[in-house]
Amino acid sequence: MKSAEIAALLNEPACAHNKGEKSGCARPKPGATAGGCSFDGAQIALLPIADVAHIVHGPIACAGSSWDNRGARSSGPALYRIGMTTDLTEQDVIMGRGEKRLFHAIKQAIDDYSPAAVFLYSTCVPALIGDDLKAVAKAASLRWGTPVVAVDCAGFYGTKNLGNRIAGEAMFTQVIGTREPDPVPESAQRPGIRVHDVNLIGEYNIAGEFWHVAPLFDGLGLRILGSLSGDARYREVQTMHRAEASMVVCAKALLNVARRLEEDHGVPFFEGSFYGISDTSQAFRDFARLLGDADLAARTELMIAREETSIRGALAPWAERLKGRRVLLYTGGVKSWSVVSALQDLGMTVVATGTNKSTAEDKQRIREIMGEDARMITDGSPKGLLQAFKDYRADILIAGGRNLYTALKARIPFLDINQEREFGYAGYRGMLELVRQLALTLEAPVWAKVRASAPWSAEKTMGEALSSAAVSPHG
Ligand code: SF4
Repeated sequence: MKSAEIAALLNEPACAHNKGEKSGCARPKPGATAGGCSFDGAQIALLPIADVAHIVHGPIACAGSSWDNRGARSSGPALYRIGMTTDLTEQDVIMGRGEKRLFHAIKQAIDDYSPAAVFLYSTCVPALIGDDLKAVAKAASLRWGTPVVAVDCAGFYGTKNLGNRIAGEAMFTQVIGTREPDPVPESAQRPGIRVHDVNLIGEYNIAGEFWHVAPLFDGLGLRILGSLSGDARYREVQTMHRAEASMVVCAKALLNVARRLEEDHGVPFFEGSFYGISDTSQAFRDFARLLGDADLAARTELMIAREETSIRGALAPWAERLKGRRVLLYTGGVKSWSVVSALQDLGMTVVATGTNKSTAEDKQRIREIMGEDARMITDGSPKGLLQAFKDYRADILIAGGRNLYTALKARIPFLDINQEREFGYAGYRGMLELVRQLALTLEAPVWAKVRASAPWSAEKTMGEALSSAAVSPHG
């Protein structure tokens, strides 16, 4: 990829980093890829397309270290979960066999799995030795008649976010618009209801959480034409240019796809979230608004009233147990505010939220939700997090998996909110799962046990020493 192309992706006009005084995302500095390189970001964005063979062209560690690091679920094919790599070695580099190995890898993937398409991900080594992925993709596609998409995302290009955009660019330029949508099947049509085609962008179906929301789309007559990329199929992504509206679910990833769909194909978009009752309702209202369908708007309000009443009733006994409990939230981007609103819906107090990866817009949303005095923390080091936990008298730390051991070593309750999590929290029904997990975590008897000093410890508290003395047979 040429440096001008990278600069153009960093300069995404729709991104909050490019508004006001700021111009474009910062160029990566040494160490910036520690939280994930461009290859990682590109693969994360596209891997949930379930019927595609995803081949990582590079040394095995690139694929090995990133495989299955997200809990995206598929309702059908599981091909995306098979890790494929060309496993380049020094010999391949010295002998210039990179492209040949890649060609053979594509053949093997097609012969063994008959995928809907093959995606090739470049990594640092083939980019440095000059392997031409696009040429290999073209030759393989002609030879076997299966679409082969080259994603030029060498890790050293920059950060994970840049990788997301590279992935989006590859989809927009090579996949979207290559097929027309199927007609709406008769089984999905209902008399008097117009079916609208919509896109979801930046929704990954982590832990299957979108399945909490999908039935509501069906009920309103909103057909999800394509999703980038949770539970997606290649043939769906091909048709995304024909949608009537898009929702950008994770504000940072793939914003370029939404913008280009709007500019080139007239598909308007909005940014929203499915975390929390109010945000889920707002997302459906925004769809109705963008689609300009008065009947849909009226049906949406009925659906919202029905779902909100039902979920508030179901949450009441749980919320009573959680009311007033204090949360330290450390996550990034859109979740830094969307989860705040979900927790506030439960009557919990968010004492501070992490804003390390948040945009200026995310921070503004935090202020709107938490008030002007909202505490935003940027120090995500174990020491910084534990100090904030203590200073703000939090009861639970909600953060990503990498903070799990910080919390466990400090013997404080912890809930994983990031992509590795086991439970889906999206939509109205997702709130029930969230509240259940919060209550189970906070009320687990283990915290009292692990915080008490060991019976053989010399540092017993006075109370413990007195009570053990009282029961001592040697009194
Ligand atoms: S692509 Fe480059 S930076 Fe990313 S994991 Fe591979 S070697 Fe490391």
